Amino acid sequence: MRGALKQIHQALRDVGAGYITYVPGYPVTDLAQSLGAEIAVNEKVALECALGASATGIRSMVIVKQLGMNILADPLAISTTHTTGAGIVVLVGDDLGPRGSQIEMDSRFYGPLTGLPVLDPSAPDLYRAVTEAFRVSEELSIPVILRTTSDVLEDASAVADLSDMPSHLGDTPRCFDRSIWELTAKGRHQRHLAKVLPALREASESSARMDLRGDTGVIASGSVVPLAETVCEETGSSLLVPLYSHPLPLIAIERFLEMHRLVLVAEGPGPFIESHLKGVRGRLTGHLPYGPIKPNDLRTAIGLVHISDLRGEIEMETAAGRPARRSICQSCPFLPLYSALSRMDVPIAGDAGCTILSLRMGAVDMVYGLGSSIGVASGFKEKGIAIVGDYALAHTGIQGLINAIWHRKNVLVGVIWNRVAAMTGFQEVFDLEHVLRALVPEMRILEMPAPEQEIERILREELRSPGVSLVIFKGTCVKQNSRPY
Ligand code: SF4
Repeated sequence: MRGALKQIHQALRDVGAGYITYVPGYPVTDLAQSLGAEIAVNEKVALECALGASATGIRSMVIVKQLGMNILADPLAISTTHTTGAGIVVLVGDDLGPRGSQIEMDSRFYGPLTGLPVLDPSAPDLYRAVTEAFRVSEELSIPVILRTTSDVLEDASAVADLSDMPSHLGDTPRCFDRSIWELTAKGRHQRHLAKVLPALREASESSARMDLRGDTGVIASGSVVPLAETVCEETGSSLLVPLYSHPLPLIAIERFLEMHRLVLVAEGPGPFIESHLKGVRGRLTGHLPYGPIKPNDLRTAIGLVHISDLRGEIEMETAAGRPARRSICQSCPFLPLYSALSRMDVPIAGDAGCTILSLRMGAVDMVYGLGSSIGVASGFKEKGIAIVGDYALAHTGIQGLINAIWHRKNVLVGVIWNRVAAMTGFQEVFDLEHVLRALVPEMRILEMPAPEQEIERILREELRSPGVSLVIFKGTCVKQNSRPY
């Protein structure tokens, strides 16, 4: 097992975590599956289950990728002032690059948005970060966001630094305390600002680490820390490493800024810390490139730190200039459907999952995220098509179908039905067939692979009839016994 994952395993054992749930997706699937975590239908439900566990005295963890934070944001934001019971940690994996996501996102911004603490450890700090997150969560009755990135989780060599462990949790986890309802919503917010935030600021200040050397300083966070340690030693620069991204250790940062003539912020993927500070260098000033930071990027940035602005033209990566990492498998049973779709003259909304791979062959026109296609196609001016996988349908797509039926939308829904989440490692998908038949009794089922002409005939026929049409394309993923890719 990779060093980074070992540390998380050890920390969860040491804090006595009793419930771990997840939604698969790069870069967190391996971690969650190695922990034997319970799969959830979507991230909001995962967090709700964990909140229930926490309320009844079970320490719990929710594991999601960065896009999943958008789905669980509602109960997460409410939990800040609602309060919780036993320690509860949301571990999020930001996909740098991105390699397995539609967008690159920096989950640290959920800290200021929700008022919750965000820890951003490097790989060697993972054990300390997990135990600290549970300690703070249980002491202050709030969930803690533990932000990791793909390169931190993939670090094979990371060995835990166990020299400076925070105090351990009590043997008896707390349960939810109903006395919070003595306060109004305004009172609960006042309590958060007056009691919880100052305690978080203290925890943030006391966990920041400083190595003082020259008159140039680097503030580094997350996966950049090991690299910054090496380059700072090489160049005689000082280093400040905050464990908390929210709240930032502002007293330590201010002291560091006063002590150094010039300061560079090295972090990723966004300029989160840099955007909170004045007069520093980083990505916003063009000293560091967007994308992963390499040793030479950091050396060059330190060498040019005396120049205030290095912004220039950015060469944007194009689809034509980079070979597709993945495409629809040649023996995929749904290939005839994608070919038929590419000949349709109506707008087609696709969904995350294997369907997204058909964008390049022109089968779908747009993809606004997992579970989005039915809602998007319901807004089309004329009857169009939504293509959704059965996993995406269960995740959040089914609400789009309910809405379409409720408002008598003109939309043709095609479900790619293979009973696995093929894109994230072939996890089993809940069987919704009876639910769908109850919603659309006249739904059609077509066994795949079927001839293209037959598929095209059915699609055109359904497009001519008003209202919601539902066609299930049933097939078996030919890759489902292989490794996730
Ligand atoms: S992984 Fe399975 S469902 Fe996805 S394209 Fe390949 S064969 Fe088709």
